[in-house]
Amino acid sequence: AFDVLIIGGGPAGSAAAIYSARKGIRTGIIAERFGGQLMDTLGIENLISVKETEGPKLTQALEQNVKSYDVDIMNLQRAKALRKSDAGLEVELENGAILKSKSMIISTGARWRSMNVPGEDEYRNKGVAYCPHCDGPLYKGKRVAVIGGGNSGVEAAIDLAGIVSHVTLIEFDSKLRADAVLQNKLNSLPNVTVLTSALTTEALGDGKKINGLRYKDRTKDSEHVIELEGIFVQIGLLPNTDWLKGTVDLSPRGEILISNKGETSLPGVFAAGDCTTVPYKQIIISMGEGAKASLGAFDYLIRSSVP
Ligand code: FAD
Repeated sequence: AFDVLIIGGGPAGSAAAIYSARKGIRTGIIAERFGGQLMDTLGIENLISVKETEGPKLTQALEQNVKSYDVDIMNLQRAKALRKSDAGLEVELENGAILKSKSMIISTGARWRSMNVPGEDEYRNKGVAYCPHCDGPLYKGKRVAVIGGGNSGVEAAIDLAGIVSHVTLIEFDSKLRADAVLQNKLNSLPNVTVLTSALTTEALGDGKKINGLRYKDRTKDSEHVIELEGIFVQIGLLPNTDWLKGTVDLSPRGEILISNKGETSLPGVFAAGDCTTVPYKQIIISMGEGAKASLGAFDYLIRSSVP
């Protein structure tokens, strides 16, 4: 059995693995895809101390860093269920294997909900973006759209309005769902246009990058094109926690509820990064959260009676 078994091999899981291994305890890490969301990311300019890097390059660095310690890496393995019994904690993998551990750290991350319209996949990272904190500065002085009128969409529009030349906020419903205080702030900005009852139907480009967006005005059933250089999709971040339903407490959005030490509702099970309720999903935050959950797990182990 492991002392600490980490499920998820993104920035949070990698940090957790290194912190655990440095305590000299038996550490394992299971990852469906080592690197996680980093593998879908091109430029990264906000990982403090690294001026700029790319997702796959950072993944390689993380993997080398983890491999320099005594960590059992099980890549390309998907966890299917988590159980606690008198015998301790166990994880069942999709391939049928069962792994036991005295403590666990869940760091299975999240994925952005996509619009599922033509052009979105083709121009991902070429004008279609999901993270204003990450990619906002790349659109300085340009025209962008934000898709989604919930809190994240409106926050993104306010944030981007300070950087770009113009923001069009597009909401499918007849009204925005964001908090009133955010809507008031948005409405006070001179370079923002809000379109409601608007359904985005296509991300348009020149073969290399985005140059427009097509939407349908649902009140008139008419189609329109907006010329722009960027589209920020803000229609939800889905935590990869379906497999945990009924085992650890989740928020209404499916995020794992954690304490300030990374503890979940199940003793001995910790969680870190984008799959949790931690606000502001970022690489540097996930790394810090992974380190924290690992120290939390160590604290648990030295206090627990599990042999
Ligand atoms: P993830 O990176 O999502 O990793 C989750 C891990 O869990 C993966 O290894 C996955 O395979 C594994 N996993 C999931 N389910 C299972 C399962 N059932 N069993 C086993 N393993 C499982 N942040 C920044 O700070 N700067 C940026 O510039 C930036 N750009 C981004 C660009 C894009 C396109 C995207 C999508 C995200 C970007 N982010 C950026 C956000 C950043 O990537 C995330 O905040 C960060 O990767 C979260 O780390 P994590 O370890 O919590 O989760």
